[in-house]
Amino acid sequence: MRLRALACLFGLFVLVGTGFAQKARTMPAGTEPTAKAQFDRGWRQLDKGRYQEALAAANLILLNGPLKLYVEPSSTDPGGTATKLLIQKAAQGWSDALGENIDVVICTDSSAASVVVRSMDTMQLNGREVAGYTDWKRWVHGSASGVKAVITLRTRGLSKNCLSKGAALQAAMHELGHLLGLDDGPQNGIMGLLDPANPVTKPSRSEVQLLTEIRNQARQLLQAARLKEAAS
Ligand SMILES: [Zn+2]
Repeated sequence: MRLRALACLFGLFVLVGTGFAQKARTMPAGTEPTAKAQFDRGWRQLDKGRYQEALAAANLILLNGPLKLYVEPSSTDPGGTATKLLIQKAAQGWSDALGENIDVVICTDSSAASVVVRSMDTMQLNGREVAGYTDWKRWVHGSASGVKAVITLRTRGLSKNCLSKGAALQAAMHELGHLLGLDDGPQNGIMGLLDPANPVTKPSRSEVQLLTEIRNQARQLLQAARLKEAAS
């Protein structure tokens, strides 16, 4: 997530010729590219009769099951307690906005986690000061799928002051938003640039609509794969 420059610190139905209705198979604009790629691949796998792979791709986007996180100790948060609370609050923020539970589990063993969360006093990405970033990989292998990610969150601004609770929450929600399938977005939302003086702590209406559509699209793929699997 980039910081705002120098600010302190920063069922669409399409009728086909035969009269059958076919639901749209397209992720909306604003979908994070690797999520879109796995979704598109899921439909191609389904067309080839590879139902398990299609199910796995849909579950990957829906994060079927809890997101298992491990919080690394850091110099500013040796026990990781503050970071754990921050991540849980960020997940709750998305859950409240979506009206469905985005479940996260904090693991005590890093090998059991799919997502590692670390915090750093300062950080740069490609020469820019940033408030956080996520390195991730979404994978599907046979009937299994998952996300492997490292989320890095910044704790201090350019002035070396601690980020406010609101700014830290936006940074954490922003990075979780990427894992949920959202790309960077406009300034008025969680997925926009962070202005530490005016953080956004709730997803915008358009972000909620976008993420709802992404999850609905994934559920359509899931349902189609289940139906075809049952009929095979
Ligand atoms: Zn971002």
